[in-house]
Amino acid sequence: MEAEELYEKLKHIDVANPLCAYTIERCERLTPLINEINALKEEKDALILAHSYVHPDIIYTVADHVGDSYGLALKAKETTKETIVFPAVRFMAETAKILNPKKTVIDPNPNGGCSLADSITGADVRRLRKEYPDHTFVCYINTTAEVKAECDVCVTSSNVNLIIEQLPNDKIYFLPDKLMGQNVKNALGDKKEIQLYDGSCYVHEEFTRLEVETLRKVHPKLTVLAHPECTEEVIKTADIVGSTSQIVNYAKEHQKDENPFLILTECGIASRLQVEHPNLKLVGSCMMCRYMKSNSLEGILESLKSPRHVIEIDPSVQARALSCVDAMFTIV
Ligand code: SF4
Repeated sequence: MEAEELYEKLKHIDVANPLCAYTIERCERLTPLINEINALKEEKDALILAHSYVHPDIIYTVADHVGDSYGLALKAKETTKETIVFPAVRFMAETAKILNPKKTVIDPNPNGGCSLADSITGADVRRLRKEYPDHTFVCYINTTAEVKAECDVCVTSSNVNLIIEQLPNDKIYFLPDKLMGQNVKNALGDKKEIQLYDGSCYVHEEFTRLEVETLRKVHPKLTVLAHPECTEEVIKTADIVGSTSQIVNYAKEHQKDENPFLILTECGIASRLQVEHPNLKLVGSCMMCRYMKSNSLEGILESLKSPRHVIEIDPSVQARALSCVDAMFTIV
């Protein structure tokens, strides 16, 4: 790949944070890394799965697949490649290892935390199960393997309502996201009795109803697309609520609309839309996840040359976590 080609691809990215902008000089610095990664990827029989929130210079140059946690989990499960490199956050690399344990799974990001996944441990779930013995434990995919191993079924932002609604037990303990959990409670009404844990995503909880209302005054025909990790106040103002892939697909289907869009999720989605649909009108601010954005081409190259963060999961934890994730695939 040449620097000019990369610049042509990424030049439309225009969000508030200067870290997101691409100049020709930046592209000239990145292209040697990109070419080395792509050559090594072939040599090492590696697959690169990138979450939509990581930097566009990863998404549009070295990633084999880009998407949300559900879509990427499916790609990890199906791959025949020997190695999976997963620029995202640690729990996603762990999910790939749970689903395809014989593969070498590498997390190229030394700072791959997540405020949701880090909010709860397996010991917390064991304690809660004693407190709520007649509840079905449902965990969001943003949890560690250790936590999944203690739960009955895993869900993602694209299927959470559907799965909880279909569970035979009416008593549910949902963890760890209290904001998503409240949105599920509001959507399902009195169909289920749902207990919530106290975790939240530090990025999505920052969006406010005031921001939406202020922008609606300026743009009365604004279409608001929100991720279900936002607060219930924000969700009530949204026109469409969905996972990152559902948001991208909706915006793509409506790209000829004259109305502007407000995207209430991590700013990687706005960047993706600006690259893939440059005529789309986007307004509003951008919130960046420091964990996702600590992925870099340098880190990916290093992980292919001499992997330091190879995911290892205790076999008994892996088997129980697999049963939790497989329960999701059985329902949807
Ligand atoms: S955006 Fe929120 S939920 Fe997603 S990885 Fe970052 S902290 Fe975790």
